[in-house]
Amino acid sequence: MKRYTDRGLENQQWLFQEVLRENRKQISKWGIQRRTAFEWLVYAAEELGETAEAISEYEYREGTKEEIVNEAIQLATLALKIAEMFKAEI
Ligand SMILES: [Mg+2]
Repeated sequence: MKRYTDRGLENQQWLFQEVLRENRKQISKWGIQRRTAFEWLVYAAEELGETAEAISEYEYREGTKEEIVNEAIQLATLALKIAEMFKAEI
């Protein structure tokens, strides 16, 4: 199986644009959410699971790299929302 090298977030401008685009998409779909820490964790875990599924589909079936990127961006967006919410409490 192919190995992937950590790129050190070198394409951070593109990455953050994608996170902001995903954030707008989530808010337009669900509105501004107010949830417990555990609920946010469950949503992030769901996206982690979907990222795992996308990787498995890519490695073993007809899944695409684009789907892996999409799921990872969704996961990253939720992780950053959690970091932002708890940072505001510090
Ligand atoms: Mg997803």
